[in-house]
Amino acid sequence: MKEDLVVATRNKKKLNEIRVLLSDLDFNILSLDDVPDIPEVIEDMDTFEGNASKKALQISNATKKLTLADDSGLEIDFLNGKPGVYSARFAGDNASDEDRNKKVLALMEKAPKDNRKARFKCAVAIAKDDLLKIVTGVCEGKIAYESKGGHGFGYDPIFIVPNYNKTFAELGPEIKNQISHRAIALKKAKDILINYQQTGKLCNNDQ
Ligand code: IMP
Repeated sequence: MKEDLVVATRNKKKLNEIRVLLSDLDFNILSLDDVPDIPEVIEDMDTFEGNASKKALQISNATKKLTLADDSGLEIDFLNGKPGVYSARFAGDNASDEDRNKKVLALMEKAPKDNRKARFKCAVAIAKDDLLKIVTGVCEGKIAYESKGGHGFGYDPIFIVPNYNKTFAELGPEIKNQISHRAIALKKAKDILINYQQTGKLCNNDQ
């Protein structure tokens, strides 16, 4: 029987990307909506790695299952690294992706033309029985002047990938899933998961 792997998110679009990126592994992937009575994890750490680790350890302890958590966000040089770990709440608790993108574009109106550099960062933590492995991925790009494209989620419509000169939302899942921060981190996470399947062990983080 396939072993359960809980992906510690309720974000359906993020979950879908993770499902596609892990689709060649032999796990039964569950989301937080598939496991009952899970305590809400407060994401109050000041790094992506910290929040991903906290989520993975708490959810793994609550479910007693192998758990993978992704904490990710956008860092913009002109905004001194903001929204960073506050990416999900950058325009307040009840704001939409569109509200957050509008806020970023408004703040970027004052940015000089040559200072629109930004990057998506992703930390993936895998936990089981209080053991933890963490890997990361980064995707460099720049902030667009306007929202473009209908694919993806979050800040995808305002993040331009220089090699393509298009936003992630214009490029769509096939290209995004080859080059994104999440794709890079999950490629490393896959090695850990394959090793776990072969040995039955999740080693402590040794990076
Ligand atoms: P998290 O669920 O706490 O990791 O929040 C991540 C937030 O960062 C999301 O709500 C998005 O706004 C943003 N984000 C993370 N990854 C992506 C991505 O791949 N594309 C666009 N926005 C992203």
